[in-house]
Amino acid sequence: MKLRIGFLGFLMVLCTLAGTGWAQQPQGHYLVLKVDRLGNVQPVFHRAVDVEARPMPEKSLREKAARSSSQLLAETAAWAEIAEIPPHLRGEFAADGQGGQIIPHRVPLNEHYFALRIPASAGNRVSVSYLGRKTTLDLGEISAKSSSLPFAGSSGARSKRAAANSANRLDILVIGDGYTAAEQAQFQTHFTNLRNTFLAHTPYAEYASFVNWESLFVASNQSGADHPPYQAGCTTTSCCADTAAQDDPRAGLIVDTAFDGTFCTAQIHRLVTVSYGKVLAAASAAPHWDQIIVIVNDPVYGGAGGSFSVATANEWSSHIAVHEFGHTFTRLADEYTTPYPGFPNCSDTGGGYPCEVNVTNQTDRSLIKWNYWIGASTPIPTSPGTTGIGLFEGARYQETGMYRPEHTCAMRNLAVPFCNVCSQAYVMMLYAGGSGFAGGRTTASS
Ligand SMILES: [Zn+2]
Repeated sequence: MKLRIGFLGFLMVLCTLAGTGWAQQPQGHYLVLKVDRLGNVQPVFHRAVDVEARPMPEKSLREKAARSSSQLLAETAAWAEIAEIPPHLRGEFAADGQGGQIIPHRVPLNEHYFALRIPASAGNRVSVSYLGRKTTLDLGEISAKSSSLPFAGSSGARSKRAAANSANRLDILVIGDGYTAAEQAQFQTHFTNLRNTFLAHTPYAEYASFVNWESLFVASNQSGADHPPYQAGCTTTSCCADTAAQDDPRAGLIVDTAFDGTFCTAQIHRLVTVSYGKVLAAASAAPHWDQIIVIVNDPVYGGAGGSFSVATANEWSSHIAVHEFGHTFTRLADEYTTPYPGFPNCSDTGGGYPCEVNVTNQTDRSLIKWNYWIGASTPIPTSPGTTGIGLFEGARYQETGMYRPEHTCAMRNLAVPFCNVCSQAYVMMLYAGGSGFAGGRTTASS
């Protein structure tokens, strides 16, 4: 025994000296945390993973995140990560259940789940700052009790090795809910359909080589999603107060699935959500993921946006995911004008938070962010319906005083192309990099 350990040790030293990377990487952590609106933090899942450190966010960004209500700062002396904490679930559906005008809904979230990937080099004491409240977590203690954490059972997915180029690619992980073990081939078909919908959009097609699409199959006990039946005035999750539920062909179907996919979240029939904590736990099988999309195996139109997109297998639902991805990855603003009471204002003319790349309140031609796209003879502002790039009034939940670059765009309507400014923003985001996790393979014990 002694001899064997000695030999292994000798081998590891050799590998390290040779710089081959064959030596086992030190163990890091994949941690899912729940936070509530008071800033209370609770670990709900832990898995040991090999993950390399990413560049630390700048100090000014860390300080801003610690104070923000939409971001959370996790840090040790040697490592830091900023997690996005969206305040609302977004339900953005086509009025006709296919494409065109978006009918938006927002549901305030009282609790959030997010994943941290922490390299071993970070050390064991992580402080989490949210809403001005600081909580210190001991990774050693959490690791020791990982099997008793609430979502320990969601780690059943088999570990996937990251593609060799994962560190400098955008890794999109697609997870299915409501697929039985016998429906794995159906999941692969729906995965391919979703990817094809994305790749039918410029610039996703042209920059496809910058993206790794990966699927993760997790079997559910039953097929489909919950469809709570219509009941006027319903206030519980076992029924649906939305009159749209009266036309649901699967009304009353209640099934046992891996991620608890359900229609009628917050009494909005098409708002299909899953257990975000369980999905993030299962995603630990591919801990190098950069973005997650969940497909719910159900033919009825619906989905949701938030920290990640959810879309049913209905062919039109994938367009919801395309729009939501514009928010979660490209950080684009909505370009439609339906009011959003309480949404923070932005300004490109001084004072306040600068507007997202695809909207502005700047009407001085020379100062418009996308002025290099605007033809010299194009009037500013530009008349509705004009082809090409200009300054079109109506965007970001305002009919007036806020402008967008083109008449139509996937950030304004569903199942239409992205405008040129939004397309450019996606490409710039890919080139900016920094979202890639290196390593990320779960350890042998997982
Ligand atoms: Zn939107």
